[in-house]
Amino acid sequence: MELFVSDIHLCPSRPAVTELFLAFLAGPASRAGTLHILGDLFEYWLGDDDLDDPFNARICAALKAVAEGGTTLAFIAGNRDFLAGDAFARATGLRSLDDPCEALVAGHRTLLLHGDLLCTDDHEYQDFRRRVRSPTWREQFLAQPLARRREQVEVLRQRSEQEKQTKAGALMDASPAATVAAFRDHGVRRMIHGHTHRLAHHTHEVDGQACQRWVLGDWHESGGSFLECGADSWALRPWAGC
Ligand code: MN
Repeated sequence: MELFVSDIHLCPSRPAVTELFLAFLAGPASRAGTLHILGDLFEYWLGDDDLDDPFNARICAALKAVAEGGTTLAFIAGNRDFLAGDAFARATGLRSLDDPCEALVAGHRTLLLHGDLLCTDDHEYQDFRRRVRSPTWREQFLAQPLARRREQVEVLRQRSEQEKQTKAGALMDASPAATVAAFRDHGVRRMIHGHTHRLAHHTHEVDGQACQRWVLGDWHESGGSFLECGADSWALRPWAGC
């Protein structure tokens, strides 16, 4: 089985979500062939020099135990943890994938992505994304002390929470045009992403072909969930522990 999760938004102030995720790692993830984490595993990641933080160290050790148990771990960074780099990958034993990337999932060619790239109607967000993903921004941000970085990220988080209250819902969802373009450009009929926190299984018709889009749910507001993919059936499952 191949399992997919995203948008866990782990942070020390949400101990119940942390325990739920650790139970998931020790349970279904340990029995899976592959666990794909499609971004926003952490509420935020300040840089790999924060790996010694006790909370981060605990999560990374739990992931490493899953990898050492024989489950392949794959990771696409989200908008909250795109600063997770090579040292993070080494500490967890996971493989970092590009966003987006094409993969064979249980025998089906599938496009994997965090999901924010599909939200093209939100121009303000896409401008922001381009800015913070530039090597210059990254270099300047990482050059600051951790405490300074934390302050800045807290400001960004608060702004993002406020925007969620005022921005139109459709703006923050996958754009229908961008979704169709992604299916077409990559020549795939299946897609898996998170980011929008709108857990669903959609079907789209693209150039006369039936295409499936699986949207993963968030864990911190909606409770745990994962996508389970076998050769014959794919299903979104709730995860409440054990
Ligand atoms: Mn996201």
